[in-house]
Amino acid sequence: MLTSKESAAHSRFIERSRRYRESEASLLESLIEVDSLQLWRKMKYSSTFQYCVKEAGLSDDVTANFIRVARKAAKVRALRDAIAKRELSVTIARKITSVITNENAAEWIAKARTLTQKRLEREVAEANGKEGKKRRAKARPIGRNLVDLSMQIDESTMEKFRRAQELHSQCQKKLSELDETLEAVLEFYLKHKDPLRKAERNVAKPANRSQDRPIKPKRPPRPAGVTHSVHARDEGACQEVLPNGERCGSRMWIDIHHIVPVSEGGLDIPENLITLCKPHHRMQHGHH
Ligand SMILES: [Zn+2]
Ligand SMILES: [Zn+2]
Repeated sequence: MLTSKESAAHSRFIERSRRYRESEASLLESLIEVDSLQLWRKMKYSSTFQYCVKEAGLSDDVTANFIRVARKAAKVRALRDAIAKRELSVTIARKITSVITNENAAEWIAKARTLTQKRLEREVAEANGKEGKKRRAKARPIGRNLVDLSMQIDESTMEKFRRAQELHSQCQKKLSELDETLEAVLEFYLKHKDPLRKAERNVAKPANRSQDRPIKPKRPPRPAGVTHSVHARDEGACQEVLPNGERCGSRMWIDIHHIVPVSEGGLDIPENLITLCKPHHRMQHGHH
């Protein structure tokens, strides 16, 4: 038997769990709403994801899962209803987003409600496998300096990987394990492709030899030194200031934007250039 103190703790816990599930369901409804209104655009965020993280303070993981479920629920009415009626939690719903459609909704909702999580994951994996889809790659930190990376790659990609392994092994005069090969391949790629690395190497050189040159009607290519100093200054990250005062900071899909357009006499000099991510760049130019 529970003591009265224990029994009170138990009731509190059950009551709060109920409220948690309730608020989870209404949060999802609200997310469907703000997502369909595209509030992120109006508020100058780069995406609904960024809006949720920066404006609402949700974690990356929670946001990613909620968005995935919200977008599916917006399309599959039965899924939306099941969550609203709290037959499914958002976490469980997330497990079936890759397979559920309007046609098979009843079947997958029933499975999600009755099967153990392991069993459900296996059935979803099987259903996905039948369509020949790859499982999403996963990177999970498992220590201070260690990440468990798991992914499925095509045979042709694996062939390239093996070939790189051969070359790297030859170079090292000993067998290069796959992780060592990956490290070498990434290092090589970044050395040649990363504008930040190029900027680090070149920023010492004079940057703007051609800044005084008049702008010709045919836009001349921007001097590499200018690009390098913009990358070094902006650290390769979007500089858009968000409504919460933080900078966007995205390093994916970045552009260099002219603050004063070239067509209005804007110069190709670092002072007139700013790093923006694609969504924020598009907003600057006013087309959606
Ligand atoms: Zn621009
Ligand atoms: Zn941005």
